[in-house]
Amino acid sequence: MLKVTPLPAFNDNYIWLLQQPGSSRCWVVDPGQAEPVQRYLAQHELQLEGILLTHHHPDHIGGVKALASEGVTLVGCVHDVYRLPPLSQQVAEGSRFQVLGETVQVLEVPGHTLGHIAYLFADHQPPLLFCGDTLFSAGCGRLFEGTAEQMHTSLQRLCQLPGETQIYPAHEYTQANLRFAAQVEPDNDAMTARITQTEAQRNAQTPTLPVRLSEELTYNPFLRVSNPLIRQRLEQRAEMTLPEDSRAFAVLRAWKDEA
Ligand SMILES: [Zn+2]
Repeated sequence: MLKVTPLPAFNDNYIWLLQQPGSSRCWVVDPGQAEPVQRYLAQHELQLEGILLTHHHPDHIGGVKALASEGVTLVGCVHDVYRLPPLSQQVAEGSRFQVLGETVQVLEVPGHTLGHIAYLFADHQPPLLFCGDTLFSAGCGRLFEGTAEQMHTSLQRLCQLPGETQIYPAHEYTQANLRFAAQVEPDNDAMTARITQTEAQRNAQTPTLPVRLSEELTYNPFLRVSNPLIRQRLEQRAEMTLPEDSRAFAVLRAWKDEA
């Protein structure tokens, strides 16, 4: 059983810190800054054993240089070695390795960037997914490099994971995402409940994350483009029929970019 702690960085990033209760060993995911990690390690007398990188953007790798001393394992995608800090472990779709006694499985999820990967702790109870900038609560990452079709396929893969999977995105974007999602699907009770919940969480200055996949499936429009009401809204907006889910997804993503 792992303990996962959010370390806030920049304005709205989370560096997720993983530790085994009772052990001083820990790992972090996407340390865009070193300082929040160093401070936490010192305060709690922890030792950094490894770093997981989901993609190459500076707000995800900026702290690596200062953190990756000798003996710290640095894991990232083999396709992006040319734009990631020097990796000690290069991984790709289907790679499996151990983190703090748990098996981690790598999923390639292109869309936000082409070399974007997610880390799935499939045997953990509940399963944990560190998905970087691919899936956010009530939203998804922008398409900087990949196509809408690639991103849609990546998100659909994540939708197939067990419903109890805990989703750990890299940004606190939930409230802004819900404002847009409520325009797409105004009469969704699950979304209304999530809006109320996130307001309370943010007022209490607590993260809105992680979130369970089964909940996310009830209100995240980017996972729901096959829903008839959402599809109708997207077809109205596009002024054409959208027979394929991936095309409906592209319309939704473009709408969000303009909103
Ligand atoms: Zn990014």
